[in-house]
Amino acid sequence: MNKHELAEELRRKQLSKAEEAVREFNKNSRRQMTIPQFRNAVTSCSDEEIILSYITCSSCGALILSYDVDVDALARSSNSADEWLDKTYKAALKHRGTHVKL
Ligand SMILES: [Zn+2]
Repeated sequence: MNKHELAEELRRKQLSKAEEAVREFNKNSRRQMTIPQFRNAVTSCSDEEIILSYITCSSCGALILSYDVDVDALARSSNSADEWLDKTYKAALKHRGTHVKL
């Protein structure tokens, strides 16, 4: 896959579980979102924005992979978004290992 194909597949995945995603978002946020708002946000974000949302560390905000090099290489060696997500997940675990333990 190239990055554009990857981004398209990630969008499709998000849209297919829109109800669940909105329910989760509303549970954890004071701002409430509707399903049409969620669908609109997913379809209007750029390829880069949607991919970055998957490779940004949720605890420190750093990028787990470099967008230009790693994302591209992992996308090219993957046949599906699920395969790419699996590789990204492993990189995320490795990244979390670098966090200073308190
Ligand atoms: Zn981090």
